[in-house]
Amino acid sequence: AKDLGRNNYQFYTSELTEQAFAHLSMQTQIRQGIDRNEFIPYFQPQIDSRNGQIIGMEVLARWQDHAGKIISPAEFIHIAEKTGLIIQLDRQVMRKAIQSFLGWHLDSLVSGKLSLNLAVKQLEQDDFFDFVNELLQDLGCNPNWLEFEITESDIMSNLEEMSRKMGQLRLLGIKISIDDFGTGYSSLSYLKKFPVSKLKIDQSFIRDLPKDEDDAIITKTIISMADNLGLEVIAEGVETIEQQHFLQENGCHQIQGYLYSKPLDSQAMQTYLLNFQKT
Ligand code: C2E
Ligand code: CA
Ligand code: CA
Ligand code: CA
Repeated sequence: AKDLGRNNYQFYTSELTEQAFAHLSMQTQIRQGIDRNEFIPYFQPQIDSRNGQIIGMEVLARWQDHAGKIISPAEFIHIAEKTGLIIQLDRQVMRKAIQSFLGWHLDSLVSGKLSLNLAVKQLEQDDFFDFVNELLQDLGCNPNWLEFEITESDIMSNLEEMSRKMGQLRLLGIKISIDDFGTGYSSLSYLKKFPVSKLKIDQSFIRDLPKDEDDAIITKTIISMADNLGLEVIAEGVETIEQQHFLQENGCHQIQGYLYSKPLDSQAMQTYLLNFQKT
């Protein structure tokens, strides 16, 4: 039994070491990726299902490594957030995304908003407000064209500071949307006091619509709550026409998901917009 215990212990430590090593090596690679300017924006359109018009697009980060391979955020966002590398990473993606978006705006290919995911660490930076302000001036971007998505759990992690920071952004003219809404297990009373404009219904509630009765009730409740609070509401992860019909019947007209398009790189998005204009 003693031997077995020792073996287990060794197995355990070597597994831990392996994990720590993988973590460390990923961290080093992310840092190199940032230095090499390898983080890029993908874009996913958001559609008004009543008229099929594009009302905006969400920026989703991808890592195009030195071999050209596209790496998904599931592999790096978590470690980037834990190590603080997310701050530089997101700023890199943000600048590129706004640049592309402005080009489309100037060519009248799109008139809606650009939605950017914001990590709580980013919002906590003392210079974040200045960074955004300078970036917008530098690129000549109207703040009204931007929207930041902040997850409900990030907001709840530091309610007072987040509220203050979001108020500042609002004053600048940037709108705030609550991402993954409904998954934060939070009290809803914060919504009244919060400078937000939009709720984004989490895709976990959309997936099994319209069949799943719990999800149907939750989704309806979020939509009517948004309505009562004077907030906009958007559904993400919409893949089927049945899901869209359910949402439409219940008053949610803003749709994002594979039903319309997967996230596209900037060249593919440009083509999408050009084709869109023709139809
Ligand atoms: P999220 O903000 O909730 O983004 C939605 C995710 O759902 C995206 O995954 C998107 O590609 C995916 N998706 C969109 N439509 C559908 C659909 O119809 N069906 C299904 N099954 N999935 C759909 P992605 O791009 O892998 O991003 C994952 C998460 O990583 C994001 O979740 C967000 O939390 C984070 N993330 C992505 N880009 C950034 C970024 O630039 N900055 C920060 N801080 N976080 C980011
Ligand atoms: Ca998001
Ligand atoms: Ca989400
Ligand atoms: Ca369910």
